[in-house]
Amino acid sequence: LVNKKFHPDDSVISVGTAKIGPGHFTMMAGPCAIENHDMLMETAFAVKKAGAQFLRGGAYKPRTSPYAFQGLEEEGLKFMKEAREATGLNIICEATSLRALETAVKYVDMVQIGARNMQNFELLKEAGKAGVPVLLKRGLCATIDEWLNAAEYIASEGNPNIVLCERGIRTYETATRNTLDISAVPVIRSKSHLPVIIDPSHATGVRAYIEPISKASLAVGADGLIVEVHPCPACALSDGPQSLTFEQFDHLMDELKPYAELS
Ligand code: PEP
Ligand code: MN
Repeated sequence: LVNKKFHPDDSVISVGTAKIGPGHFTMMAGPCAIENHDMLMETAFAVKKAGAQFLRGGAYKPRTSPYAFQGLEEEGLKFMKEAREATGLNIICEATSLRALETAVKYVDMVQIGARNMQNFELLKEAGKAGVPVLLKRGLCATIDEWLNAAEYIASEGNPNIVLCERGIRTYETATRNTLDISAVPVIRSKSHLPVIIDPSHATGVRAYIEPISKASLAVGADGLIVEVHPCPACALSDGPQSLTFEQFDHLMDELKPYAELS
């Protein structure tokens, strides 16, 4: 179902008020985690003003340490919904479990399946059955073929609304958090009709690299970006070093706008 051989035309996926796919470059931005009501609303207004179409924010956080902030869960989803009502932004949140998915679908325009759950086949099947548009991130050590098979799990349950997200893979390199596989974009384009976006934040882990990698993503033909933005990156409960300030996100948008067909 996701194979280009049988579906030669590239798909454009409708999510909320947005379209994602060729000709519709989509910007998703927001904090790694929803930390509280006010920081989320402040970020929502800032990214909306800069021109984003989606607010991202984690309510269920897949943290490396069980002692790190785990997310506000349903309370966070309620704040996201309020932010959507206040700004008109579409909202995307990650679901890390079947229980989280069941709750998230009541609030979000798009659900994210994160890198760590790319091969959680039960979660993929449930996301397929739920019918909600899915952003499927590439697994930490997944091949492109494994990634497309994960998408097939969702599609095979009757849900064609899938967008892929390259977010860097594990290599021997330690200068960046992960190694962005930028060639994944043309490879996916040749193998699948599904849209593919890039997450420069988790790919690099370093704020200073977000802008050049975002420009490279646009140049290579990605259908959008998902970027972490925080009102005070130094105070962030997660992923501060890779989060942009509002001013930096404004600047990034100004740099991209002349070249991106933003929908
Ligand atoms: C995220 O987007 O918040 C996240 C945890 O990303 P990934 O699954 O790519 O690590
Ligand atoms: Mn993060």
